Amino acid sequence: MELKDAAVLVTGAGRGIGKAIALAFAKAGVKTVLVNELPSESNAADETVLAIQNLGVLAEKVLWDVSDFKATAEAADTCKLWAGTVDILVNNAGITRDNIFIRMNEDAWDKVLDVNLKSVFNCSRAFLPGMLKNRWGRIINLSSIVAFSGNPGQANYSASKAAVAGLTKSLALEYAGKGITVNAIAPGFIDTDMTKKIPEKIFNDLVAKIPVKRMGTADDVADAALFLAKSSYITGTVLHVNGGLYL
Ligand code: NAD
Repeated sequence: MELKDAAVLVTGAGRGIGKAIALAFAKAGVKTVLVNELPSESNAADETVLAIQNLGVLAEKVLWDVSDFKATAEAADTCKLWAGTVDILVNNAGITRDNIFIRMNEDAWDKVLDVNLKSVFNCSRAFLPGMLKNRWGRIINLSSIVAFSGNPGQANYSASKAAVAGLTKSLALEYAGKGITVNAIAPGFIDTDMTKKIPEKIFNDLVAKIPVKRMGTADDVADAALFLAKSSYITGTVLHVNGGLYL
């Protein structure tokens, strides 16, 4: 399949990395981009959809919580109506609920695991059958540098992102023979709303440690997603996009 014929679904695409990925695929000339967001972020999703439509590409907003298995299965039917088979699935939606481990409550653990990890199960489970039918597909999951380095205050988040890397490799092995590649991107320190929450002192110390001496941009990550979508011989890999922060 060529990119011009592909339908892409990007979860959490109302802002940040997800929005940049959705726009990068639109600029690359895909057929349709489905923009997922939480129902509460409907306006943000509208902005992404409009930006894509302004590029002359079909775009639709599909609002649901990707951590909800049943809602994901129902949304898959809606996506089918809008776009036919989803050929490229980008599991981007993610959250943080940071705290030192001794103060981390059960809700912070469950919520982060549900949104960051279970969502990848939910969406892959819902959209893989269509890819299998066409014997072509791309699944691109957002992991993180902290899956590999660990990070104080992010036990829940780093555990969820390490699990995403393991899930990616297992799915890659299961479906490599069926024309479907499954890869992950592990961004480092990217300038989005998520990193704006980091206290100033920790933020400055972190940037000083990045070998290329700047934070990454959402577009840096989007370039990697597009690259993986175009590759048919790369599967089960974790592509690090971190300015040399973790080597
Ligand atoms: P962000 O907070 O700016 O955007 C996340 C988006 O996901 C938001 O639009 C939010 O509404 C949406 N979302 C959250 N929960 C959702 C749910 N249950 N269902 C549907 N949508 C949901 O974050 P970002 O920085 O753009 O991060 C995007 C991805 O990249 C995340 O998976 C994140 O963990 C990962 N990541 C980010 C960084 C970074 O430095 N920013 C680093 C490594 C990995």
